[in-house]
Amino acid sequence: MIQRFLLALSFVCMVGMVHAQTAPRQGDPKLTEYWEPVVRVVTPGKAASDAPSDAIVLFDGKNTDAWEAKNGSGAAKWKVENGAMTVAAGTGDIKTKQGFGDCQLHIEWRAPAEVKGESQGRGNSGIFFMGRYELQVLDNYNNRTYSNGQAGGIYKQLPPMANACRPPGEWQTYDIIFTAPVFYEDGSLKTQARITVFHNGVVIQNDRTLWGSTQYIGVATYDKHSDKEPIVLQDHGNPVSYRNIWIRPL
Ligand code: MG
Repeated sequence: MIQRFLLALSFVCMVGMVHAQTAPRQGDPKLTEYWEPVVRVVTPGKAASDAPSDAIVLFDGKNTDAWEAKNGSGAAKWKVENGAMTVAAGTGDIKTKQGFGDCQLHIEWRAPAEVKGESQGRGNSGIFFMGRYELQVLDNYNNRTYSNGQAGGIYKQLPPMANACRPPGEWQTYDIIFTAPVFYEDGSLKTQARITVFHNGVVIQNDRTLWGSTQYIGVATYDKHSDKEPIVLQDHGNPVSYRNIWIRPL
């Protein structure tokens, strides 16, 4: 008896659900609107690559004031010329003076026009989010290397979904959305870092999860760090240039 009752009840519920899905909605449409907080106004740049009104400009072609040597030796020693800053081999990695967590980053890079070296030795640099998570910069135009070490890859972790490289000597763009990892007080990992990357307008990383901080040898792991850390650009010994770098903390 009770079974028959439950069966009948579930049938009534199912009919009710179907009805709810198909019946025209009634009532006050305002009930599902919310007006606060107000979405703030941001004035976009004239071109999509121009810094919008609320961006922090990290390099505008004039000086490296927003940067310093990663090794603590003071000012960044990379060469600023013709609106670009170029790795001065042997002077070391540079880092932003300011720390960043979740962010949108626009950065333009150029591998040397004069092709030298192969695989990882050609136009190698890199962008380290939070000083740890490397988005590879490499001249992979007709230059084979390991897939998870090529341009647009999260080094030794996530290969890009496409090779969208322009020829060496041409400017290229990365537009990145980075989500910082979150740690518990005790240092254990709460949520992993995530990344979305467009290379020259082509999506090559789609909200992908990072395995940990970049390691040259061995498996990547997460080690607790603060929620804002500098962005680092790599001196890998090749004269890679950068220009038009801006960031929007999210
Ligand atoms: Mg690199």
